Amino acid sequence: MERRKAIGIVIGGTRTSLGIVSAEGMIEIQTQFDTNPRTGFDFALERIADAIYNMCAKVDLDPALLVGIGVGSTGPVDHITGIIRTDFTLPTWGGRNIIQGLKGLFKTHVLLENDVDVAVFGEAFLENEQSLSSVVLMTFGTGVGGGVLLNGKIYRGSQGEHPEIGHMLVRRAGPKCYCGMRGCLEMIASGKAIARAGQRFGMKDSYEVFARAKDGDPRARKIIDSAIDSVALGVWNILHTFLPERIILGGGIMDEHYQMFEPAVRKIIDKATMIPKDGVSLSKARVGNEAGIVGAAALCFQ
Ligand SMILES: [Zn+2]
Repeated sequence: MERRKAIGIVIGGTRTSLGIVSAEGMIEIQTQFDTNPRTGFDFALERIADAIYNMCAKVDLDPALLVGIGVGSTGPVDHITGIIRTDFTLPTWGGRNIIQGLKGLFKTHVLLENDVDVAVFGEAFLENEQSLSSVVLMTFGTGVGGGVLLNGKIYRGSQGEHPEIGHMLVRRAGPKCYCGMRGCLEMIASGKAIARAGQRFGMKDSYEVFARAKDGDPRARKIIDSAIDSVALGVWNILHTFLPERIILGGGIMDEHYQMFEPAVRKIIDKATMIPKDGVSLSKARVGNEAGIVGAAALCFQ
């Protein structure tokens, strides 16, 4: 049994979290540090390696016995080669190779996926739902993203890309998006979009818009209602495209305000007539990085 342990790592733009995970999905020990991508890729690898050695020492585990290291990283990554495709979310890291880097330090199996993909994988692993035909995680934070698991496998495009759920169209004449379209879900329901809408009324960020909406400020309420409505429309589209057995809503906005969104989402699921809606369960994602760490490690147990 001692051999069945893996490292799960989640690399975010702000924080890197990692832990030692058992084959049953238990995090035995975990740690985190600020990613500070601008201090460089090599320095980050050193910090990850130090953290792994420290954790192994604390639980008396020989790193040579690890089944593998699974990594979920923000931004577009090439899961086959291990290369971080752009500098967009991890400045200065574009073109660097996570798999090669970690393999050079630890003589073990290293796997890389996108951070949202390891989160949906972890959610399903922890619920013992890998056998479900379809599980969809939609994340609402600074941006909007998502991951899809079909029959236990991460769903991706022809070149390994993952679904761009944030660019589903939910309002034809909505705000302009950086992707070139108008009215994408991310332009209405992301933290950035909510903040931008609030700034017109002197509100400084999305936290203030949510707080004021809860206090009954009609301008803030309108912004949040619009976000809620667009999330519900997004769920409607997902529902009819993937016919999921489970839809999970996560990300910073849902961590804090899931109960504001849930009624509208349940209502729209209930309106469906073309799909077996009774087989759909809706839930809030696990808070924090637990699902991501477990999901990243679980890649190694497959
Ligand atoms: Zn877009």
